[in-house]
Amino acid sequence: MLKGKTALVTGSTSGIGFAIAKALAQQGAHIVLNGFGDAETPKSQIEALGVRAEYHGADMSKPGEIEDMMKFAASKFGRVDILVNNAGIQHVAKVEDFPVERWDAIIAINLTSAFHTTRLAIPAMREANWGRIVNVASAHGLVASAQKSAYVAAKHGIVGFTKSVALETATTGITSNAICPGWVLTQLVQKQIDDRAAREGISATQAQNDLLGEKQPSLQFTTVEQLGGLAVFLCSPAADQVRGVAWQMDGGWTAQ
Ligand code: NAD
Repeated sequence: MLKGKTALVTGSTSGIGFAIAKALAQQGAHIVLNGFGDAETPKSQIEALGVRAEYHGADMSKPGEIEDMMKFAASKFGRVDILVNNAGIQHVAKVEDFPVERWDAIIAINLTSAFHTTRLAIPAMREANWGRIVNVASAHGLVASAQKSAYVAAKHGIVGFTKSVALETATTGITSNAICPGWVLTQLVQKQIDDRAAREGISATQAQNDLLGEKQPSLQFTTVEQLGGLAVFLCSPAADQVRGVAWQMDGGWTAQ
């Protein structure tokens, strides 16, 4: 379905980003990977699906590096057809104790980076009159939790940004949508489970069950494969008129 298209997925060396990259590659899209840590393993796993994969290690908190990554993608593939803004970090602390440097990093990586990639991707999408922008927001883009002020602000921000871009591109073949996962068992959440277990002197299994019980009525994690499937749908012709949505995949979290 996506044969010949190019997808750039930020923060795709692990977790949700890698799963989305894989799902798009399974539909035939070439992939530009980004993120920290080992890039060779994800790159070869994508190539094994029969598409081309490139990697750029831009730090999403640095506008200059983001610009360099977008130029790199254009030089390798001509343009970015599908942009998935996924890179994200978390920090948990009360607002009065929140380290200023962590606030700035969360806003830069979880929100501002999507402004930079989007502004740089749109001109070529307009020229082609086709494009897909998929922003990985969160249930925290729709509702809040205590001790996550920066994350909640950034994720609410990206939901708003998604809608503005959808309106600006409404008469074109470019769509802009957000995905709002609930708990997904990735490194980002494993750290919160481990911290909770240590803080409360309970087992990791207990901490995991408590985490789900508190927020996610299904009592099951959303899987990265399910999120990959949703991203593929948003890139399909069936989603041509899906514009500016914030689509929950959260086991009922935000239905409460
Ligand atoms: P993860 O930690 O497995 O993946 C994060 C990715 O972002 C990694 O590839 C990492 O290298 C990359 N990254 C981090 N900082 C970066 C930077 N400065 N520049 C470039 N890349 C950077 O976490 P994940 O759970 O897969 O998170 C992916 C996205 O999904 C995030 O935006 C997160 O907020 C969102 N999300 C996660 C959950 C969850 O429960 N795991 C729920 C809702 C939303």
